Amino acid sequence: MKSRITDLSLAQLEALASSYGEPAYRARQIFQWLYKALANSFDEMTDLPAGFRQALAAETVLLGLSPLDETATDDGRTVKMLFKLEDGKSIESVLMLVEGTRGDSRWNTVCVSSQVGCSICCPFCGTGQQGFERNLSPGEIVEQVLYFQRQLANHYYDNTLAGLTPPHVSHVVFMGMGEPLANYESVSQAIETLISKQGLGISARHITVSTAGLTPQIERLANERFHVELAVSIHAANNELRNRLVPINRTYPLEVLIPAVKEYFKKTGRRPTFEYTLLEGINDSPQQAGELASLLRGLKCHVNLIPTSPTLSKEFLPSSKEQALGFQSELTRCRISNTLRVSRGLAIRAACGQLHSRWQATS
Ligand code: SF4
Repeated sequence: MKSRITDLSLAQLEALASSYGEPAYRARQIFQWLYKALANSFDEMTDLPAGFRQALAAETVLLGLSPLDETATDDGRTVKMLFKLEDGKSIESVLMLVEGTRGDSRWNTVCVSSQVGCSICCPFCGTGQQGFERNLSPGEIVEQVLYFQRQLANHYYDNTLAGLTPPHVSHVVFMGMGEPLANYESVSQAIETLISKQGLGISARHITVSTAGLTPQIERLANERFHVELAVSIHAANNELRNRLVPINRTYPLEVLIPAVKEYFKKTGRRPTFEYTLLEGINDSPQQAGELASLLRGLKCHVNLIPTSPTLSKEFLPSSKEQALGFQSELTRCRISNTLRVSRGLAIRAACGQLHSRWQATS
């Protein structure tokens, strides 16, 4: 199989250029063609010598993701894509137009997958139920963003978004299929390309890595030269329940996880977010909200309350609106900053793994 050009960092591209007897600045030219000019072929890279272009085309692949299926919400502000990878496996990504609370700012967020399937096996999650297949390469992650960058630049969504959206991807969240920190090398290299000035030039402050709580990798991430936002899928405030909902908790329990998150904040200055999926009768009582508030006391953080979508399992149902509001008001009473997220993806089954399941069932 040919190698994928988007898998290469700037330094690796420099080494590749030098192996063809080309100077290092050719790597920056290629990066700019890929990520700024959004080139579709090596032929477009007209400032590269023709022989070098031909060699690149013969030995590497420019773009390897094939769009399989697109689904959008009625207002067109959330678009979910299913992509086929070169080995026939599939992954999903979501583009969301997000409006600021006062309606005066808008940005485009892409939610990317980092693995095919997931090994964490949270029992309420569609992807968790599929099991783990493989890690994505850096290029397979970057190309998910690149796909939407192209669509936005070509004004593909303008009919539905009525020209509201800026013509580029401004934010990236690693919240699609997979546990990003279990694929650390690919995810960190993808982030380097996303934030590179010669690459997509997205601010590290606008990139969020979500984790189920892989403590050693959180500690490693805190020491990177880039400081991205961290989101921790907490879902329960005691080990007994969390062992059931997020099985990695048996390896990295709360008394290990919470200090690592505190340390992340200390080293990076990035206020962590805790994601809490509300499950009817399981983790959504006001007492459990109080328990969460006690766990997080003294930690500068934000809690995102997520109304879950129905999965294949009857065991995990979404909390009612009243229950969710009760949970939220207890957190607010305890002075924990929080948001009850509007789950706008429900209409297109945008919850983790669900479009993927549907495609597999029908293909
Ligand atoms: S919720 Fe996230 S960590 Fe848990 S199984 Fe699903 S993808 Fe993996």
